[in-house]
Amino acid sequence: PQQAAERRRVLLKLSGEVFGGGKVGVDPQVVKSIAEQIAGAVSEGVQVAIVVGGGNFFRGAELQNNGMDRARGDYMGMLGTVMNCLALQDFLEQRGVDTRVQTAITMGQVAEPYIPRRAARHLEKGRVVIFGAGAGMPYFTTDTVAAQRALEIGCDRLLMAKSGVDGVYEADPREDTSARKYVSITYRDVIRRRLEVADPAAFSLCADNKLPIVVFGLDEDHGIARAIRGDPIGTIVAA
Ligand code: UDP
Repeated sequence: PQQAAERRRVLLKLSGEVFGGGKVGVDPQVVKSIAEQIAGAVSEGVQVAIVVGGGNFFRGAELQNNGMDRARGDYMGMLGTVMNCLALQDFLEQRGVDTRVQTAITMGQVAEPYIPRRAARHLEKGRVVIFGAGAGMPYFTTDTVAAQRALEIGCDRLLMAKSGVDGVYEADPREDTSARKYVSITYRDVIRRRLEVADPAAFSLCADNKLPIVVFGLDEDHGIARAIRGDPIGTIVAA
């Protein structure tokens, strides 16, 4: 159990792929199981903010490859993230968890606008805050937004849930089965060894501001719950 004095606040990044279970759209069974894990950890007193991706609907770069204007495609990508937010909100509320969705593109009927101090206040009250619509700006990624939001609202850790891989390896484990997983690694070694942890902009925000990143596998048993609780899981990247 947490001491009241040492509040823990984490930012969980869930990519869009997760919501679709590998397909386009939202897989309710998957979202339900994620919500259950989050609900359990929240009930133990950890403050949880979430940034949700949108790759299960649209990616601006892919739309551009198919002949669309990049910025317009990126806005479509951002709107996709909001649908994931609403699905997650629904399953969390079914579990009795209070939530607020805040979006970087205002859409008053479905979400609050992004107001950092208000987000912090929600977290203090035990509400889960789900951030949607990325940064509200084309040419950004939700990974970068996750790092930015984590810094702005004062999270202790950025938790990156990955599908298909359960941490940071010395080489791509899909190509080299003997590659070993790091339990912990420094930002400097990630750069020196050219390892991939998050997109470069997200990684450099974390490294420059010494925000620890936990990379873990979504498929691990109760991976999300363990990561939120701060149990050892995946790889921790820190100074
Ligand atoms: N996007 C954007 N600005 C942002 C965040 C997202 O333009 O601040 C767009 C971009 O087109 C991206 C899409 O939204 O491809 C979905 O986000 P992302 O690819 O980061 O989602 P994930 O890979 O985590 O599912």
